[in-house]
Amino acid sequence: MMERRVRVRFAPSPTGPLHIGGVRTALYNYLFARQQGGDMILRIEDTDSTRFVPGAEEYINEALAWLGIGIDEGVREGGPFGPYKQSERRDIYRQHVKQLLDAGRAYIAFDTPEELDARRKEIANFQYDASTRGMMRNSLTMPADEVQALIDGGEKYVVRFKIEPNRDVTVHDLIRGDVTINSSILDDKVLYKSADDLPTYHLANIVDDHLMEVSHVIRGEEWLPSAPLHVLLYEAFGWADTMPQFVHLPLLLKPDGKGKLSKRDGDRLGFPVFPLDWTDPTSGERSSGYREAGYLPQAVVNFLALLGWNPGDDREILSMGDLIKEFSFEHCSKKGAKFDYEKGKWFNHEYLLALDDAELARLFRPILAAHVDHAEAFADDYVTRAVGLVKARINFVKDLWEQARFFFVRPDTYSEKDIRKRWKAETPAIMRQLIDVLRGVDDFTSARTEEVVLGWIKENDFHMGNVMNAFRLTVVGECKGPHMFDISELLGREETIARIELGLQRITVADE
Ligand code: GLU
Repeated sequence: MMERRVRVRFAPSPTGPLHIGGVRTALYNYLFARQQGGDMILRIEDTDSTRFVPGAEEYINEALAWLGIGIDEGVREGGPFGPYKQSERRDIYRQHVKQLLDAGRAYIAFDTPEELDARRKEIANFQYDASTRGMMRNSLTMPADEVQALIDGGEKYVVRFKIEPNRDVTVHDLIRGDVTINSSILDDKVLYKSADDLPTYHLANIVDDHLMEVSHVIRGEEWLPSAPLHVLLYEAFGWADTMPQFVHLPLLLKPDGKGKLSKRDGDRLGFPVFPLDWTDPTSGERSSGYREAGYLPQAVVNFLALLGWNPGDDREILSMGDLIKEFSFEHCSKKGAKFDYEKGKWFNHEYLLALDDAELARLFRPILAAHVDHAEAFADDYVTRAVGLVKARINFVKDLWEQARFFFVRPDTYSEKDIRKRWKAETPAIMRQLIDVLRGVDDFTSARTEEVVLGWIKENDFHMGNVMNAFRLTVVGECKGPHMFDISELLGREETIARIELGLQRITVADE
């Protein structure tokens, strides 16, 4: 086979929100295109008018853009092989249907749904193929003038592919190797319907792959059963030499048990299976997306890339650049990949940790604003330092509120459990002394305050754990959070002392 420019396409049908498995298919296409210095096409396969959903195409564009999956040629980008939307390519398909008819590789069939049903009742396992087409109402069994008269009279018809029986058809797949089936199991697939003057998926898909000079068809495993038919179509058109390489990607499986990952698994186990939120325009049904759930696009890309592929070693954190460099079909698995959404959270955690604190603070701002009045009064530097102190404890930006709230509001309650454990009869007196100690610290940095306070505790032989936790209880409201003296440094001397005083007024000693 001759060397050709790498051209791949992602070819979704706009029938609803793009499933996360479709996103992975788009990603692998993109990685391969970029690695090979080739082109990435986005083709909208909207020939099934009954399944068209408004908004779905915009959703696809927005999801790919969010994830950084760049498109070189497409409906919005344009390009030399357009139009890139199948409903705008009717003339092209009509011509190609004619080409197959003229060559005797396809035929016209008038059988109505009722007639087909009747055959199905009559003949066990009825299939429209070489063994049955001779008894049906089609251009192979009817005289040409009768066929023409029916067409002229507006009778609805379909064009079927005339499949030669008993031939072994081999699909060369770069992940699966050779997959061979016998052509007798295939039916004479409908390629075109006069009712809506549109081709079916099979015809439009391969005509476009050919005309758009697609070199590699990289798609989900669910399309593998169509591939032998596609091979036969390439041959029938005389395009066997430029047939693309096929790559069928492993399925994404349920996190628990067997079977394909579905929206229901996400609803049941509480994780998104779509990139972005989506509301169905007819039913109003909502589906949650990774973006709105608080995932960083880089984390989603990394997570998806490793579902069905590995870099050949145990590296897990791989940037888009790394993925482009390392991607290969040899390291794609044939076996389905279990959708481990807990791992997805881990990736998000890692990517959030890797952000610089100022960027994380910027992402946190809207959440802060939703929780406190006058959030803008907190300086960027303050917010940045606050998120920096707690970021190791979060999986999502929204978790920052839970973890860092005490930097922005004084405690309004104090943990009962911690009071019982740490607030002893002698604690109030010790806390009053602590206030004096804090007033006396020459430099209120974390390190210096720690040195002074711990020195005072030791000198007085106080119980280290109780004193430090009582201190923390007044400042934070519970015995949790980052290093205590980092907290006091950021809050500052006045605020730290004010909180101890407030705690002294409000916390009462638990009855022993
Ligand atoms: N339109 C098909 C889909 O929705 C494309 C399959 C293919 O890539 O050939 O996934």
